[in-house]
Amino acid sequence: MSSVPDGKKLIRSPSGLRMVPENGAFHSPFSLDEPRWVPDRECSRCMQCDTKFDFIRRKHHCRRCGRCFCDKCCSKKLPLPRMCFVDPVRQCSDCSLVSQRELDFYDKQLKVLLGGGTFVVTLGTSEKNETMTCRLSNNHRYLFLDGESHFEVELTRVSSLQILTDPNSPGGSRASGMLLQYKPMGSQDPEQLRLETAQDHKGAAQWLTAMHKAAKLLYESRDP
Ligand SMILES: [Zn+2]
Ligand SMILES: [Zn+2]
Repeated sequence: MSSVPDGKKLIRSPSGLRMVPENGAFHSPFSLDEPRWVPDRECSRCMQCDTKFDFIRRKHHCRRCGRCFCDKCCSKKLPLPRMCFVDPVRQCSDCSLVSQRELDFYDKQLKVLLGGGTFVVTLGTSEKNETMTCRLSNNHRYLFLDGESHFEVELTRVSSLQILTDPNSPGGSRASGMLLQYKPMGSQDPEQLRLETAQDHKGAAQWLTAMHKAAKLLYESRDP
């Protein structure tokens, strides 16, 4: 086992080359396992257009769902960062739509989350609050909160995440805060954490919007 916890290694699967954390315990919470491929003997026809496979019309497996398609129905090659592929991989039309949306998350929102935002933070039902910077850790596993004090929340220990909106903003939909329920390390008792945007909150509102997208990805991968 590597002594560098965030070290990565290259592995080759039938679907392509993947760059994964050397230590399985450091997988990004956004990552997805590779699907099981539908066995060749179980598919004689394209699962989208019903074309029969033969010597000329070869079958291809979608790398995201593992189902079988003809070349026409599975021709798109797209990056699939959630499965850690190094190069773009072949995907069916349904999967490529989902992957395309996720690329937007990886290109934009993830950068916002790593950059961080400034919030007024209240822990539990305490009367006290503190101005802190909240950012996602580089391995995507923790929310780091830094102010006078420092603490961290492991994303896989978050049981609920609610984005609060400001009813007085235009359309009443601007993100103004976040309410998290989580179980601190070594504890089964849930804690509550409340983040509210401070005075100059444009960056913080963007951070919350990005966190909302992140939460969707997390819950999708918990309950496929
Ligand atoms: Zn087809
Ligand atoms: Zn697919």
